[in-house]
Amino acid sequence: MQCIKDISFSELENFIVERGYDKFRAKQILHGVFVNRATDFEQISTLPKQLRRELSEKFYINNIKNCKYQTSQDGTVKFLFQLRNGSAIESVFIPWDKGLKERKTLCVSSQVGCALGCSFCATGKLGLKRNLTVGEILDQIFECERIIGSKLTNIVFMGMGEPLQNFQNLLKALSILTDENWKLFSRKNITVSTSGVVPKIYELAKIERPVKLAISLHSTDEELRSQLMPIARKWKLKELRDAAIFYYRTTKIPITYEFILFDGLNDGEEEVRRLAKFARAVPSKVNIIPFHRIDFVPLNEFERTLRPARFDKILKFKEMLRSQGVPTFIRSSSGYDINGACGQLAFANYELIENFQ
Ligand code: SF4
Repeated sequence: MQCIKDISFSELENFIVERGYDKFRAKQILHGVFVNRATDFEQISTLPKQLRRELSEKFYINNIKNCKYQTSQDGTVKFLFQLRNGSAIESVFIPWDKGLKERKTLCVSSQVGCALGCSFCATGKLGLKRNLTVGEILDQIFECERIIGSKLTNIVFMGMGEPLQNFQNLLKALSILTDENWKLFSRKNITVSTSGVVPKIYELAKIERPVKLAISLHSTDEELRSQLMPIARKWKLKELRDAAIFYYRTTKIPITYEFILFDGLNDGEEEVRRLAKFARAVPSKVNIIPFHRIDFVPLNEFERTLRPARFDKILKFKEMLRSQGVPTFIRSSSGYDINGACGQLAFANYELIENFQ
């Protein structure tokens, strides 16, 4: 059995035609799945009964077997999805309501665990179990919309895993999410966040409907960045900066730099000066992210020394960067009380986690 969301449009057309049906049925099927959110082929009543049966024998629709969720005091919801094959992943729903502007964002996972081992991130401690399939990526979104009972407005690939290390499935998922036929999301409301997989940034820039790019930077000091993010040993800051410049020049979409501020490590004036120079290479903004504790996973000596920067230092950092011409914002710690904030996704607080792999 295969998930219908994992096969290409032409593969589906071949399946249909081989069985003597008209090609247009392929679009009808995917409309039923992506737009009407059928979870069973029997629900797609526009299809002949026999075709529904044949589809059910070969394909399934839904990858999520079980779902648990916790709601934060601030309205953030952390989902734990148990997948059909037994793996588990987390996704985080972040509502944001400022009068006329309302945003409903889902932070989506792209892998089960992550291979990159950033020192401030609980997901990295899990190691990489496997890449998510296209269907598993999409079903986080569909299941969240089903549970909250409304449409999401924004998607950010900032959950578990490095999306650019699951590149082919990321591209297929993006292509479906931004497909004019299904009208699920505007590409302007989708962000892919990377720790800096440089060659893939160049490739991502060239896709048909490019999306926003966020780069986890966290330091502009080569040595400190390598300590915080082992991937920085592979691709240096200059290479990352060149890739960001290429991304902007190709897509005309400004870059977002994510920057966690650590007490005494990267919260000083020297860092501001270097970061401003780095960020001004092309139109961009900096999101300052508070550091969230991850002491619910085993930490090494360096990781145990990491402390969040003081709030007055964060404010000063923001003002200094702004005064040097870089739009800078402080991101909230949405979902912190349920270990659902940035860097905290590692199955904390679930009693039944031993049943998940
Ligand atoms: S921050 Fe992202 S890339 Fe780094 S370990 Fe965590 S999930 Fe992986």
